[in-house]
Amino acid sequence: MNILVLNCGSSSLKFQIIETDLEVIEQNADRQLAKGVIERIGSEALITLQANGSSVVKQATPLRDHRAALDYVVRWIISAESKIDGIQSLNDIHAVGHRVVHGAEKFTMSVVITDEVIEGIEDCIELAPLHNPANLKGIYAARELFGPGIPQVAVFDTSFHSTMPETSYLYAIPYQLYRRHKIRRYGFHGTSHRYVAYRYRQLTGKSREETNVITLHLGNGCSACAIKNGESMDTSMGMTPLEGLVMGTRCGDLDPSILEYLSHKEGTSFGEIDTLLNKQSGLLGISGLTNDMRDLLDEEREHQDRRAKLAIDIFCHRAKKYIGAYLAEMGGADALIFTGGIGENSPTIRQRICAGLEWLGLTTGEPHNAQTFGGREGEIATADSRIKIFVIPTNEELLIARDTVRCVKNAPRRW
Ligand code: AMP
Repeated sequence: MNILVLNCGSSSLKFQIIETDLEVIEQNADRQLAKGVIERIGSEALITLQANGSSVVKQATPLRDHRAALDYVVRWIISAESKIDGIQSLNDIHAVGHRVVHGAEKFTMSVVITDEVIEGIEDCIELAPLHNPANLKGIYAARELFGPGIPQVAVFDTSFHSTMPETSYLYAIPYQLYRRHKIRRYGFHGTSHRYVAYRYRQLTGKSREETNVITLHLGNGCSACAIKNGESMDTSMGMTPLEGLVMGTRCGDLDPSILEYLSHKEGTSFGEIDTLLNKQSGLLGISGLTNDMRDLLDEEREHQDRRAKLAIDIFCHRAKKYIGAYLAEMGGADALIFTGGIGENSPTIRQRICAGLEWLGLTTGEPHNAQTFGGREGEIATADSRIKIFVIPTNEELLIARDTVRCVKNAPRRW
């Protein structure tokens, strides 16, 4: 089956076409046929398109909304000029898989999209006011464009974490607030944590039940996950993606009393504080320079910038703290897995996070660590490290495509 995978943000649309099927999944022989991204939807949009084996096409054109953006993508997909293997018309797209950020307690696994599912995703908007409306725009647009004949599937960032026990997901606030408003930890990046744990199983030959790992997704957004017996038992992001690790522009863990104190001291509204903590904090807030780890590392190296170094040090310190917490919670782990833009590409950050954990038997080893970046997958611990360390490039789109096939064919959906 050819699956169109859609990931819609507030003004962006990313897509991939992936050829896969139940037997193909077994053989790990899925094929990416094309990919692309449209940015700045709503004004002069920037479009990047690429069929597998062809060069990148860049275009710019005004696109007023996600419907127009999807229309543009689909016209390119079926055009003669795109030359996508096996795709000549709309009939050659067999299903659409959507990334949906928040599924709350309602969606514990991927589902075929029906009117009822759409209502359920709409109900989750309260919990993810920035993300779910954008995801829904993609769903509405695809339904309109493809009609009822092409099944659509929703894959949720939260659902992998639905196995967390109460001790992990409840906050220590009055229990009625959980009952009344469903205030709890949900966790995000679930598709990424699930994918790298799946690849780990493949690389090591372990069964799902034998999979005891800590996964660190370090990108612009960052989260850690404790995976015990193959299931998420704890994760660092909370009711929203703000909690946990230091991120590009998000603060992560914070004393909640700071909100009241800040509003009193600076006269800022809670809305403004929310923006401050989500958009102006993290690496950007500490360094005062940028949210981009690569640039911070350059600043530190070339100009010995004190605040760039501080931002990186705080970032690594927080990640280390979570590794320790999860090792204690899990009663030990077999491996630590790095993924995401920073986790996949920065040997320095990986080394700095693991530094000082040698007593635990968790040590990055050279030259493996330094040589693993740019999409490479591999083990990077020293030979005598008691806990293995892996770098595994994430591939959320592949899991979305596979889940889409499994849902459409009514096959079991757990990895
Ligand atoms: P993502 O959100 O997964 O695309 O990750 C984006 C983050 O990865 C940004 O902070 C980038 O600076 C960072 N990144 C990408 N390549 C490198 C690299 N070679 N070294 C350090 N950070 C990198």
